[in-house]
This record gives sequence, C-alpha cells and structure tokens, in this order.
Amino acid sequence: MVDVFSPIDARVLARLTPATPSDVDVAVRAARAAQPAWARRTAGERGRILHAVADLIEANLEELAETETCNTGKILGDTRREVRRAAGTFRYYAGCAEQVRGETIPVGTEYHTYTVPEPYGVVAGVIPWNVPFFFAAKKIAPALAFGNACVLKPAEETPLTALRLAGLLAEAGVPEGLVQVLPGGRETGAALVSHPGVDLIVFTGHHETGKAIARTAAANLTPVALELGGKSPQVVFPDADLDRVVDAVVLGVFASCGQMCIAGSRLLLHESIYDDVLDRVAEQVRALRVGDPFEEETDLGPQITAAQRDKTLGFIAESHSTGRVVAQAALPDDVRLRDGFYVPPTVVDRLADGARLLREEVFGPVLAVSSFRDDADALRMANDSLFGLAAGVWTADIARAHRFAGQVRVGTVWINTYRVLSDLVPFGGVGLSGYGRENGTEAARLYLRPKSVWTSLTTGLPQGYGLGGAGAAG
Ligand code: NAD
Repeated sequence: MVDVFSPIDARVLARLTPATPSDVDVAVRAARAAQPAWARRTAGERGRILHAVADLIEANLEELAETETCNTGKILGDTRREVRRAAGTFRYYAGCAEQVRGETIPVGTEYHTYTVPEPYGVVAGVIPWNVPFFFAAKKIAPALAFGNACVLKPAEETPLTALRLAGLLAEAGVPEGLVQVLPGGRETGAALVSHPGVDLIVFTGHHETGKAIARTAAANLTPVALELGGKSPQVVFPDADLDRVVDAVVLGVFASCGQMCIAGSRLLLHESIYDDVLDRVAEQVRALRVGDPFEEETDLGPQITAAQRDKTLGFIAESHSTGRVVAQAALPDDVRLRDGFYVPPTVVDRLADGARLLREEVFGPVLAVSSFRDDADALRMANDSLFGLAAGVWTADIARAHRFAGQVRVGTVWINTYRVLSDLVPFGGVGLSGYGRENGTEAARLYLRPKSVWTSLTTGLPQGYGLGGAGAAG
C-alpha cells in the first residue's frame, strides 16, 4: 500500500495499492482487445463520447478542483482553471476526430496512391505530479479521438483526479477496457513502458526519467514523445513595458509554487534597467502570501512533497554562498499548516558562473536574476542551457523580438507575454527538454501514422519492376 498525502498539512488522503507488472499486463491486454472496435467507430461517434466526457468534467468541476488542490497543494483558482482546460481539451479533440485526412499522391498515371492515417493501437501515457488532471486529459483525449486505446500512469504522489477521470470516462460511454488508469510509481511506470503490447509512449516528466524511458523504448523500438523540464529565460530589454514585465515575471515563476515545466526561472535584465526591475520584482515577491491553497488570499501553496521542498531549500541555502539572496516571502505561521511542505519564494542574483541555480531545474519558487549588455549578450545567455523548453522576450522593438525568437533554441517563445498555452498550438522542447510535439495539428502526427496504399491502374507488369530492372527500391 502507498499513502497519498496532502502537501498542505501532510495528512493522508488515501491508501492505494500500486499496479504490479502483472496488473500492467492485464491492463495492456484489455486495452489492446478494446482498441480495434473503437477505431472502427466513426470519428463522429468518438467525438460525441469525448464531448460527453467534457460535459461530465464541467458538471463535476468543483469536486475535481477541490480534490486536485487537496492532493497537489495548488491554489483553488489554478486547479479550477486546469479542470476547465481539461474539459476544453476533450472538446478540442472531439472536433479533431472528424478532421483527420489522408492524402492522394499523384506519383504518375499508372498508380492511384493514397495515405490512410491509422491509430497506433495502445498508447502508454506517463505523467508527473504537477498538473495531474489536465495532463491525464492531454494524453487520453487525443489518444481516443484518433482511435487509440490508452493506459495512463499518473504520478504516485497525485493519482486521485486521474482515477476519478477513469470513472467519468466510463460514465460518458467510453468502452470498457479502452482506457486504464494504473496507480503506482517508478516500477509500475517501468513495467508499462517496457510492455511489448504498447505501441506508442507519450511521457511528461523529468529529463532523467525521460532518458530511462527512451532507452527502454529503444529496446522495443517503441516510438516515444518526451515532454521534459526546463530552465526558461525571460529576457527584458529597456524599451519593454516594465509594469507588465514585473507582473509576468512574478507569475511566470512563482505560480504553482514554481512547479511548472515552463517556469521562467532565469530573469535576464538589460543592465540599464537592472536595479529598477529587480527592486520591483523583489517588492512583489516579499508581499506574496504563502499558505493554505483553499484560502482566497493565498498566492501560493506548498511544494508537492517533503523531498521536493528539501531540494528547493537546498538550492536556496547554496545561493547564500554562490550568489546574493535579494528577496524572500514569509512562510505561513498558521499552526494548522506546520507539517505542510512550504518554502519561501526567493529571488537570487549575482550568481557565480556555473552556479547550479543558473543551470539546473529547481521546480520550486526560486528566481535567478542576471544582467546583459546587448542583444548578442542576451541571446548567448538565453541559449546557455542544456534545456530548451520556452523563453520570453520583452521589448517594444518588433524586429528585435522576432530576431530573438528566430535564434533562441527553445520549443516555444513568448513575445511580450508569458505562459500562455492552447490546445491549438504545438508544444514541446529541444535538448534536455525532450522531443516530439503535442497539441494542434502536431497531435494528429503524434497519435496517428500514415499507411501508404498503392493501386495499379494498368494491367501489365509494374514499371521499373522485375529482376535487374531500374526504379524499384526496397
Ligand atoms: P518524474 O520523471 O520523476 O515522474 C514522472 C512520471 O514518470 C511519474 O508518473 C513517475 O512515476 C514515472 N516514472 C518514474 N520513473 C519511471 C521509469 N523508469 N519508467 C517509467 N515511468 C517512470 O517527474 P516528476 O518529478 O513527477 O515531475 C517533474 C518533472 O516533470 C520536471 O522535470 C518538470 O519540468 C517535468 N514536466 C514537464 C512538462 C512538459 O510538458 N515539458 C510538464 C510538466 C512537468
């Protein structure tokens, strides 16, 4: 049995038995058995069921958001938004189901050649603890829309809303066996991604786990998409609207207690505005209210686990010698929260070259600030990372913004904004931030593969075919 905790006060919320390798085997087999009939349904039927899932999510929004807040410690405003977004994701893919198209390819007059996009079969989705319900939706909805089955493994720390989603899927009419949600940790995940009955792996999580999964996937030649972490820069030029910058910088790294893959955790300020912007960011950070995520005035709740809290506190402790701690918010003094996993939002600057805080993902509320001299310097510093998930650039000069967007080595660039995402817009990273793209038209490419069909339009031997003939390949 594994305890599921609330990070708010370390209370045990549930006790779950992790799925064993033989449970995984049963789940994958059941998903395989259910998938062909699901793929044969019309896209319209699949879409109708996905809309019904969205309706049920919306009808249960408050309960889902409260469970999510209890289990993740994220403020209720955020979890409500995430549950609403999850319903939107089911609706988006409900519409996509009927938009799938193949191509006819005019290779010559002797052939009629076309492609048919086909589902892979069984998709294994493995997700982290920071956005559990929305990520469950993000893996399951496209898998189902395009005719696949899905076996999902939520994080061991936050399985509750994904398990609840499995119930809503059944209520909406998703056939038995087609979607399986398996509680468990690393062993369950490893058994799932190494199962030979899995046809595609879509993973979101830490880059070291991503590497382990890529190795496993290679052994079976299972295709895999990896959405991993980041150390994303926000670059601010002097001509930017600095009021907007300050708000966006604070929200961009301290929301969700910093537990965002796209956290703008490196702030790069032009030297001429350095002191001004740093002072304003520091002032906002000192005023952040850390506390009970159910209370309306709370800005950020706890970290997910004691281990994650200690990891973040380690980065902060180190910063006292590798840099200067500029500002910190207060910890909650509420006695009810004394066992929770709270950390103070912290701003650090003057970091030594090579300091861990400039290079490694914290996944906690810590902002590292540096200054740059000119455009080339800003670009060099922005690209000085093994990660490449996202970047923000703030300037009134549109040419400069697009020059930067063209040269920064990341999967998503925001110009004069930050942290906006949509089901319609491709998302993914480069370098240690992973490979593969989710969302938008890329989702169809990820969850479907084209089959090519050649039809001869002649009665004779195919052209270029035969022993010693030219033109045939393979
Ligand atoms: P993690 O990699 O430790 O765990 C993610 C999932 O993988 C969990 O379900 C875990 O049980 C499972 N797992 C662990 N070892 C496994 C193995 N060997 N085989 C199969 N499954 C295994 O990540 P985490 O700590 O839960 O989440 C934080 C990380 O996720 C951060 O690095 C963050 O940046 C990243 N993240 C990325 C995105 C994105 O879209 N790029 C979004 C959110 C979080």
